[in-house]
Amino acid sequence: MSVFEYKASNEFIVRVEHNSDLVQSITELAKSKGIKTGSFTAIGALKRARLGYYDQKNHEYREIKVDSPHEIASCLGNVSLKDGEPFTHAHAVLADEKGNTKAGHLLEGIVFAAEVHLRQLEGPKLERKYDEVTGLSLWDMK
Ligand code: ZN
Repeated sequence: MSVFEYKASNEFIVRVEHNSDLVQSITELAKSKGIKTGSFTAIGALKRARLGYYDQKNHEYREIKVDSPHEIASCLGNVSLKDGEPFTHAHAVLADEKGNTKAGHLLEGIVFAAEVHLRQLEGPKLERKYDEVTGLSLWDMK
């Protein structure tokens, strides 16, 4: 286990624009506010989405297309650096009209309406680096 210590800094409450991509919007917000490390939660509704399921054997994301309106029952994630730029890692649980859910790594989520709470963290530089074992870009905490 590797541990870095941070202090909570600015908090941002954001209403995301209709028809924008939730993941991109958080990345753009982080870039515009100079946020290098942070965590966020989001709720609202998406018009459609693409979720990812990571195939641990073949080291690739499989895509789950969500082509109908869904509630964002839960969405959370973090911001850290990848190739020197803020990068958003988001996971979501999406609910349909019957309350049935689909969940996974949020690749794209086209917003119907969404409310984000982003917390900026101050501390050591947190950068992603390619990890041979998993095939993922994981936090480099050495
Ligand atoms: Zn993920």
